[in-house]
Amino acid sequence: MIKHIFFDLDHTIWDFDRNAQETLMELYEIYKLKELGLTSAENFITTYTINNHQLWAQYHVGKITKEALREERFRKTFIDLGLHPELIPANFEADYVAMGPTKTNLFEGAEKVLAYLQNKYHLHIISNGFKEAVVTKMTVSNLNPYFKNVVISEDVGVNKPDKAIFEHALNLAKAQKQESIMIGDSLEADIYGAQNFGMRAIFFNPLKADKPDEVKEQIHHLEELLNYF
Ligand SMILES: [Mg+2]
Repeated sequence: MIKHIFFDLDHTIWDFDRNAQETLMELYEIYKLKELGLTSAENFITTYTINNHQLWAQYHVGKITKEALREERFRKTFIDLGLHPELIPANFEADYVAMGPTKTNLFEGAEKVLAYLQNKYHLHIISNGFKEAVVTKMTVSNLNPYFKNVVISEDVGVNKPDKAIFEHALNLAKAQKQESIMIGDSLEADIYGAQNFGMRAIFFNPLKADKPDEVKEQIHHLEELLNYF
């Protein structure tokens, strides 16, 4: 019998891609990138998205640090798009990091589902995000009232899928594995992480990516959780 539901935040409740896109569009205008020769905002966003994903992949396998990731993702994007290095706006990355988390687009049905689940279960967050960003997102998007505990990897010292972060989160919640379930969009971090720790997990798969056989439970829309619980 489930008593505790652990949620991932980015790409699961907080619509990361939509919020990033909104932020990048605003920065494109603020920094007048069109006048600097970057004629297509869409092209700018696409190039950034590719570079960002590649750098995150390198970060996840320990090839680069978070600092290097932050330094490189826009610099590389501007260079790729032919901007002279001297014209790269110095505060772009800092502005992006400051502005992004203040966006409030959540996945459809998030508030309805959380309000429903909150009455029947203890809800918690386990996030691999930057601490400052997680705190801002939770506050600005009014998510704090739904959750008992917000566990952030920077505080714990290890990221999902490390068992230690699940261990920490369950201890904090005074929860047993068999009465806990993890919901998240990352197969590696959330689903295999929880399963290897010994917990059930539901794969949030809004883009309907292929589901590996070993993943037993998945949803495409948050409102499907109303049937689950
Ligand atoms: Mg996620």
